[in-house]
Amino acid sequence: MYKLIDGKAIAAEMRDEIKNAVTQFRARHGKDIGLAVVLVGENPASQVYVRNKIKACKEVGIKSFSYYLPANVTQAQLDGLISELAADNAVHGILVQLPLPDHLDADRVLSLIPVSKDVDGFSAENIGKLCLNEHCLVACTPNGVMKMLEKENIDVRGKKAVVIGRSDIVGKPMAMLLLNADATVTVCHSKTRDLKAHCLDADIIVAAVGRPKFITADMVGEGAIVIDVGINRDENGKLCGDVDFENVKEKCSYITPVPGGVGPMTITMLLFNTVTAAERSAD
Ligand code: NAP
Repeated sequence: MYKLIDGKAIAAEMRDEIKNAVTQFRARHGKDIGLAVVLVGENPASQVYVRNKIKACKEVGIKSFSYYLPANVTQAQLDGLISELAADNAVHGILVQLPLPDHLDADRVLSLIPVSKDVDGFSAENIGKLCLNEHCLVACTPNGVMKMLEKENIDVRGKKAVVIGRSDIVGKPMAMLLLNADATVTVCHSKTRDLKAHCLDADIIVAAVGRPKFITADMVGEGAIVIDVGINRDENGKLCGDVDFENVKEKCSYITPVPGGVGPMTITMLLFNTVTAAERSAD
């Protein structure tokens, strides 16, 4: 019998804790915690993400500063804004919604965000610190997965973990977090030979591929813990993950659903990182 890991419930519990931390910060320091959110252009998906992030800030009492820039903003104008936010003491976290329009250099923009305000955890310095297992701001989605495992009292130490996907924002930091927690980690990608054999050997499978129902029941060993990061649409346009949930679930000891699994944790970890950044700046 499998146990469903309820990301929605874990996220709600964490948001209550974050709300308390925000109130305590205000009482101790006499000021708000602030997050600046920068959106360039009118990408509809990005507009939804930004709206949800601002709403989540409001719910926990974090002050958000939103900047909506036209798609034809120049690199110099965007750089100027990020530099201003970098120097602003009321801003503890800076988030630039990606992707940026093609004429803008995202790496350059991200490099202007001070490491202490990089609440997405995308900067080279934060990623380097993660590799060195030092205190840092960690990318929200993989950090959310670790929180889910922690809340379920799943000790990853010594377990064989297979991460499928090696993107800079999910797969790589996910692998590093599991390694830092003493799992034995294998990272698979599109050039991996015999993915099925790797998966069958795994105690924990984290799927971050971006292909609907890609992980099928024959790829999963009895009792495996399966974490589905994917957000896809199936052939009927219905939201689904990278895991063929209905057929895989009975083989698992734990499994995350889509929707309601990893998804709700991502914005929660952004709020968590913003509070962490504010507390560190105050210290
Ligand atoms: P990505 O940058 O497109 O990376 C996908 C990874 O999957 C790549 O490393 C790719 O390998 C690998 N891959 C592709 N086909 C494969 C195959 N046949 N076998 C094995 N590996 C294969 O995607 P991402 O940004 O990491 O996101 C992955 C998924 O997570 C997407 O569905 C995305 O929507 C979702 N996501 C969800 C959240 C959330 O909040 N829940 C947040 C972020 C992303 P190569 O490197 O060799 O190309």
